[in-house]
This record gives sequence, C-alpha cells and structure tokens, in this order.
Amino acid sequence: MINTMPRAQDSAAMLARLRKRNDVCLMFVDNAFVEAADGATRTLLNPASAEPVAVVAEGGAADANAAIAAARRAFDEGPWGEMPAQDRARLLFRLADKIEEHADELTRMETLNNGKPLRETGYDVADAAGCFRYYAGLATKPQGQTYDVPAPSQSLTVREPIGVCGQIIPWNYPLLMAVWKLAPALAAGNTCVLKPSELTPLTALRLAQFIEELEFPAGVVNIVTGPGATVGATIAESHLVDKVAFTGGTMTGRSIMRAATGNLKKISLELGGKSPNVVFEDADFATAVDYALFAIYANAGQVCSAGSRLLLQESLHDRFVGALVERAKKIRVGDGFDPQTEMGPLISKAHAEKVEKYIATGRDEGAHLACGGHRLEGELGQRGNFIVPTIFTQTTPQMKVVQEEIFGPVLVVQTFKDESDAIRLANDTIYGLAGGVFTNDVAKGHRVLRKLRAGITWLNTYHPTYNEAPWGGYEQSGIGRELGTYGYEAYTEVKQINVNLAVEPSGWFSG
Ligand code: NDP
Repeated sequence: MINTMPRAQDSAAMLARLRKRNDVCLMFVDNAFVEAADGATRTLLNPASAEPVAVVAEGGAADANAAIAAARRAFDEGPWGEMPAQDRARLLFRLADKIEEHADELTRMETLNNGKPLRETGYDVADAAGCFRYYAGLATKPQGQTYDVPAPSQSLTVREPIGVCGQIIPWNYPLLMAVWKLAPALAAGNTCVLKPSELTPLTALRLAQFIEELEFPAGVVNIVTGPGATVGATIAESHLVDKVAFTGGTMTGRSIMRAATGNLKKISLELGGKSPNVVFEDADFATAVDYALFAIYANAGQVCSAGSRLLLQESLHDRFVGALVERAKKIRVGDGFDPQTEMGPLISKAHAEKVEKYIATGRDEGAHLACGGHRLEGELGQRGNFIVPTIFTQTTPQMKVVQEEIFGPVLVVQTFKDESDAIRLANDTIYGLAGGVFTNDVAKGHRVLRKLRAGITWLNTYHPTYNEAPWGGYEQSGIGRELGTYGYEAYTEVKQINVNLAVEPSGWFSG
C-alpha cells in the first residue's frame, strides 16, 4: 500500500538514495557511478509543476563509447556469458526481489519524474519485478533442437547470446521499458548499454544501484544518461555493439535502423501506433464505453498501443459518443501524487505543445470537437503540462488527426457500416501495433481480430499485457517482438552443431 503525499515538495527525500556527487545524479558505467566526461548536467522537471526535481549527469558520445567498451570487455573477457544460466537466473531473481522491497520508493520516484498517477506507476513497478522473474525462470528452461539426420552424423542447435546490446528507451514507461530490455538480454547472457530518455532517467539509475549492490560482474549493465542525438546515435552506430533494441517514435526508429547498417547489427524496433478500437452494435454497451476511455486516456494517451481511433458502428454513434463525453468530462486530471487523480500531465512542455498543435489541426481539418481540446484550467493547469480528455467526431480517414500518432489524450471517432467496412477502416493506417474489438458475437470478434493487421489484439478488453506474451507490431509499428519466449529468442543467436560419430576420412576425393 502506497502512502500518498499531497505533492512532490519533498522530492529531495525521495531521491536521497540515488548515487550523487555535488548533488548531481550519476550514471552507471563499468560498475561505477560517474559524471559525464565533460561534466555536463541536465535539470529534470516535474511534469505536474515544472519545478526542478533533480540534476542528472548529461552524457555524450564519449560516455556512450566508454560504456560500450566496458560492455564489450565484459562480454568478450568477463564471466557473464560463461556463467551457468542458474547463476544468472539467481541474480535476476534477486533483482526482482529488490524491486519489490523498494516498490514504494520506485513508485513515487516514477511519478515524480514522469507525472503519471501513483496507481499507474505502482502497476509498472510490480510488472517490472514480474518481468525479471519471468526471464530468470526462462534462462534455465530447455532450449535448442536436435535433428534426426542420417548416421553417423548428429545435428543440433544451441542458443547463444548475441553480444553487446544497445538499448534505447522512451519516457512513457521509464522503469518498465528498462526492464523489458534488460531482463531478456541478461537472462540470455548478453551485456547491455541502456540509454533512458533524457527526461526520465531516475528509476533506471536506482535500478543500477541494485545491480551494483547485488555484485553483477563489472560492465554487464551500463546505464548512460544523455540525449538521443549523441548517446543514442553513438550506440546505434557503434561497430562494437551487436544489437540495438529501441522503443520510441517511428521517425527515430528509422534513423536508428539506418545507423545500424554500418556493422549490420541486429535490430528490434517497437514504434508508434494509431490503433483501432472497434465497437459493434451488439457489444456490451457499458463495458465498451468503459474500455474506450481506458484505451485512450491511460497514461494520458502516451502509450504506443493506445486505442486512439474509436470505430463505432453507425447505429451506435450518437448514444455511444454521448456516454463517452459524459464520462470523459468526469476524468479527474491532476497531480499524480494526489490520490484522487485519474489522469496525469503530459511529459513535457514541448510535448504538450505538440499535442495542442494536433488539436488545432483537427479543428482546421473540420473535425467536430465533442469535448476537451484545451489545457486544464486553474493554477495547476498553468504550471504543469495538463491537457484534458479530448474527443473529435465527424472525422474523415484522410485527416491528419486520424492518420498520425498524437501520443496524448486525444481520441478520434470514426464510423463504419458493417464487418467488412470495420476491417477496411481499422487497417487504413501505416501502423499495425494493436487493436481491440467489442462484440457479444464471439465468432465475429475472432474473425475481425484475425483480419486486423496488428501484433497485439484484444476482444472485449483493451490494454492488458503479460510478460509471457509477445509484444510488437506489424508494418511501420516495428520489427521483432519483445516479451515472452519471442523476446528471449530475439537476444540470442542460433548455432547449428554437426557431429560426426564415426571419426574416419570421408573418401570424397580419391587422391
Ligand atoms: P523518441 O523516439 O525521440 O525517443 C525515444 C528514445 O530515443 C529516447 O531515449 C531518445 O533520447 C532516443 N533518441 C532520440 N533520437 C535518437 C537518435 N537519433 N538516435 C538514437 N536514439 C535517439 O521519442 P520522443 O520523446 O521525441 O517522442 C516523439 C514521438 O515518438 C512521440 O510524440 C510519440 O508519437 C512517439 N513515441 C512513441 C513511443 C512508443 O512507446 N512507441 C514512446 C515515446 C514516444 P532522448 O529522449 O534522451 O533525446
């Protein structure tokens, strides 16, 4: 149970345990907490109040290269890859325990830095512990295959770690994204250079302290704070990095893919979406309204899989929008530390301005603003990056607000006539991350899910995800899958081993 506090004034107390020098939170390279090579720093702001919360070392290319070199040494010369899987698993189980022991602290730290309500960060922290446990368990499970080939040969495969993995993550789930990347990579025996978003590095740095306390071998995990343009780009380009795994915007994904071609490093990309949430007239009305809200307004819409396009069967439209608007207006927007808050601020002033621009574009394009479309009123709204739940109706498929990822609390409503129309509209996007369907006709629900060009789908629900199940997108929503056994395999190479059981010359050449 988290004891909530009215606001985040005592952030200093919350951050007291982070490793600091001269009040600067340090990054983690080769098992040491260090400043940036050039001494640069960045001040992090509380998204709910614009008040400074911490000063963090702002790394650059030199720091990224030092971390990559440490990870390279740890992989090529260190004990990690050679360590029995049981021993790696033991450390990962203990890391999960540490996260749980410090759940309250991590939850508050995440809300302070990211702004989302405590109940959301609480889930993220619990999921993070679960993810380490899942992969700790998987590390010791059967792997590889054997083949029934002609005697006297024997043929089999083993899975081996890829090597040094660069991992670049966004600000919307700072701890959880770090763990989704680190857990499978470490379980498989890789070494890692993780770059959190420059806006939200705090919980990843706390995780680094747990890693230090548990005495992971030096260089196995490195966490470099700093901007994408320098630290991220260096990781993506480096020939000493064997794989880069990225979560973030599609544009950035493209530049990472280009940078990765230098040494043809393996890539996995988890990118944006404009996911359809399809409601048929035979759906359970109250359930569908409830999940339509959750689909878009969880984490203030800053979710790659957000149900940002609501597709309503025509006959349902007016009644559904009426109910939706009524409930959207009641969503309590506020400081994540306030226990009453249901939706927090956007991550930054710049991001809130970007979302506001989209709202203006929607108006200019002729969409009808059914609710919201403005900043939160009052003192809180003037200080923080709050935009209230917003709904556009009377849209057309060509509109920018229908096609582009807004990544904020903005829902666009579309209408369809029948099943085939719903499928056509749902797939009318460059993305393919997720999609939901609400209907009481289970056969129809399954038919539509199978037709959605998307990697993650839900029937009569939206958003639940599990460490056991693969996460990732079709089309321009990415490449590869995270989580589950798929996510583990993505951090391994497969080696074929052929053995001759009759050791004698082949006689292929006569001479
Ligand atoms: P980015 O994609 O730019 O950021 C994600 C991560 O990539 C951050 O760690 C960032 O670093 C890093 N990065 C940025 N540029 C580069 C680069 N050239 N090379 C390597 N790494 C880089 O997301 P933004 O924060 O700019 O958000 C832009 C849009 O992306 C959002 O509006 C949203 O539409 C989408 N997005 C999607 C997410 C998802 O989960 N799919 C998550 C976040 C954003 P840093 O931030 O430190 O500069």
